[in-house]
Parts: sequence; structure tokens; C-alpha cells
Amino acid sequence: MKWNLKILGSSSALPADNRMLSAQLLTTSSHHFLFDCGEGTQFQLRRFKAPVNKIDSIFLTHLHGDHIFGIFGLLSTYSLYRRQKRLTIYAHPGFARVVKSVLRAASVRTVFRIKFVNLNCDGKRLIFEDDELEVYSIPLEHSVPVCGFFVKEKVLLRNVRKDFAREHYIPFYWFDKIKRGEDFVDEDGTVYPNEEITLPEKEAKKFAYFTDTFYVPGIGKEIENVDVLYHEATFGLEHSDDAVSKLHSTSRQAAMVAREANAKRLLIGHFSTRYTDVKFLEEEAKKVFKNTTAVYDGMEIDF
Ligand SMILES: [Zn+2]
Repeated sequence: MKWNLKILGSSSALPADNRMLSAQLLTTSSHHFLFDCGEGTQFQLRRFKAPVNKIDSIFLTHLHGDHIFGIFGLLSTYSLYRRQKRLTIYAHPGFARVVKSVLRAASVRTVFRIKFVNLNCDGKRLIFEDDELEVYSIPLEHSVPVCGFFVKEKVLLRNVRKDFAREHYIPFYWFDKIKRGEDFVDEDGTVYPNEEITLPEKEAKKFAYFTDTFYVPGIGKEIENVDVLYHEATFGLEHSDDAVSKLHSTSRQAAMVAREANAKRLLIGHFSTRYTDVKFLEEEAKKVFKNTTAVYDGMEIDF
């Protein structure tokens, strides 16, 4: 099944005419993951016909208002919907307390369970794993602790190479075992290592969400061969000084990360509201990494 990414907000710091604050919804075969939840995210979910109630986890990169203020409204709505399904929120330490006190002060009662998972900025960490995928948090560089996220599909089954199967008359009952990673042993006792006689059934899908961050040289290596990298590109080259002082990236730096990662595709967003047309940010990035797209609210990507 293809994964779907829906861009819900692509502005930085302030809402702009056509852009709301950071939020993206990733739909995989069994999950609906929300990345960041800027103010107004629930309106955007509605506006772009996203399945609001199916969101099972929310990943918050950092505790700046433009990335988190939407969560209180969303939780209040869930309580009115009488949501039953558990919700997991990945955030930096201290956020659970904030959420609980806001909900209490606003008399919001939730019947569903909210599970908080604290992020840790010590290094790359596996924060979620199931049969389908793994999610890692990756520390980035900003004025407050921030983690990017890397979602990686697990490829569980392998395919037996056709030429090998033909040559060695592999009995039927062996196929399942080989697909699950076992070596093949023929009648003479010769062992054929699994990696030599199989191919991955399909390539594992990978998605990375990196915002807000200054350019961290080498960070691309943490998300090697990612299919889709979303990276903030708050500024253009002419405002490189602002990128340095405000600890954000230029679109060119976002492209450098994509190139380091050997990414298939780069999406840029989190644009400064000083730019009404962001085409030039895309052009500046394309000089370093060709397959770059400047996102807009409501944009969808299947991969
Ligand atoms: Zn931001």
C-alpha cells in the first residue's frame, strides 16, 4: 500500500494568507501519524478531508507555539466526539503537565487515554515499533530542544530468486521458510545463505520530518535513502544571516541535507511570512538537489 502525506500547514511562526502553521498527516497501511500540531490544525484536517478521528499518534518536534498550540483544541474536540481510542503524544519532557493543566482549567474531560512519551535529545532513538514500521527521533539544532522524526517501513518478507529456485528445484515447503529469512539446505547438506538466494520483496518506505533546525552537517546520514524528506526552509539565500541568528535553515541548506541523505524527493516548507511567492526558494534549493518541491497547504504526496 502507498503511503500518503497531507500537508496541513506550511508557514513559520505566524499564519499567512494561504498558509497555516506546521502540521502534516502521514497515512501508512495501519497508522495515521500527525507531525506537529500548530494552531488551527483541526480546521485544516477538516478542510482537507482528513480522517481526524483515526489519528493514533502525534509527534511534536519541539515546544514552540507554532508547532503545538493546535493540540488543545484538537483534544477538546476529541472529548466532545467521545473518542474512545487511545492517543499517543510524543513530546519533550514537561509537555504532559501542560496539557493536563490546560484540559483541567478548561473543564475538558477525556474518556480516552492519552499516553505521553518523552523525547530525548541525547541521540537517535527508536521511539515506536510494530510489525509494520519503526519511528526514530533524531535531535536537531534550534533555540530549544528539538527532534526530527524518521519513519521506516519494515520489510519482513523476501522473495526467492527465480533463477536459483529453477536451478535447485526447491521443494514447495521451503519457500515460506526462505521468505522469512532462513538459509536453504539442499539434499546434500549444502547451505545457501539467505541473502545470496533472495531479494527484498519490496523496498522499505522511508519518510523524514525535519523542522525547526539550523543546518546540521552530516545529519542526512541518519536518514539514508529516505523516499521523502520534509525539511524546513524558512529563509532564502539573501536572508542567510537571519537563518544563522534565528537557528533556521535556508532552502539551499535543506537541499544539502537531502543530498547527503541520498533522498529521492525533498519537500520544503515552514516559510517565513515575509515571502508571498516561494518559487525562488524552490529554485535556490534545486541548484543543490533537483527533486525539490515547495509545499502548499492541502498538498498531497503518495509514495
Ligand atoms: Zn517553527
